[in-house]
Amino acid sequence: SGTVVLAATPIGNTADASSRLIALLERADIVAAEDTRRLFDLANRLGVHVSGKVVAYHDHNERDKSDGLLDAVETGATVLVVSDAGMPTINDPGLAIVRRAIERGLPVTCAPGPSAVLDALALSGLPTDRFCYEGFLPRKHSERLQHLRALRGERRTIVWYEAPHRIAEAMDDIEQVFGATRKMALCRELTKDYEEVRRGTVGEIRQSVVDTPPRGEIVLVVDGASREEAEQAAPESLGVEELAALAI
Ligand code: SAM
Repeated sequence: SGTVVLAATPIGNTADASSRLIALLERADIVAAEDTRRLFDLANRLGVHVSGKVVAYHDHNERDKSDGLLDAVETGATVLVVSDAGMPTINDPGLAIVRRAIERGLPVTCAPGPSAVLDALALSGLPTDRFCYEGFLPRKHSERLQHLRALRGERRTIVWYEAPHRIAEAMDDIEQVFGATRKMALCRELTKDYEEVRRGTVGEIRQSVVDTPPRGEIVLVVDGASREEAEQAAPESLGVEELAALAI
């Protein structure tokens, strides 16, 4: 049979495209792209001719489309899955075809590359040995507070994606729940010309967001709770490690 290949695409800097991605774009029999227009735009910037069939594969159709794509894999096709930017499946389409491929016993592999989570984590200066990725912060204030409170005792470094128009209210809530003195980093426009990493306490970053509103794409990285903070947090907000310790 053929193979499903998940491939990471640049998150801003076109030069981050790997030679493996380029070869796959040129040779894959089918390219399943989150947004076909953006795929052709990337191919143009890379000077690549996409020879295979290009199909739209996004959040709204990935369940329906997966089996058809896997039928092609079964008959020998290489199906390349790409999202608009970064790693497919990370707050992007891709998981449905991975699951179905596993169920059907068909090969899946990955051509890894840029992803904003790891880029921000590495640049944050915060501990990287253990971290948790929490996707996008909830949009609604009450849900965001509830989400943050559940993470109050989390010992691992925490990573979130956030939109620029919600960053001020998100920082207010982060300060309210985690306090002003926790360390954090706000990473913006990673790999692009205006890349910026603001590092400081939660209070300092909250103030900086008021003084100089950050534009563009943003990742927030917040230090985990100290042992004391974790112990003070209510049991329902304890992290995995603390729950495990309680169970002993
Ligand atoms: N699959 C992607 C990945 O692996 O990073 C994430 C897709 S998610 C829909 C898009 C979000 O990722 C943006 O709203 C932003 O929070 C974050 N992001 C993507 N590119 C970024 C960049 N260059 N700089 C900072 N954040 C970025």
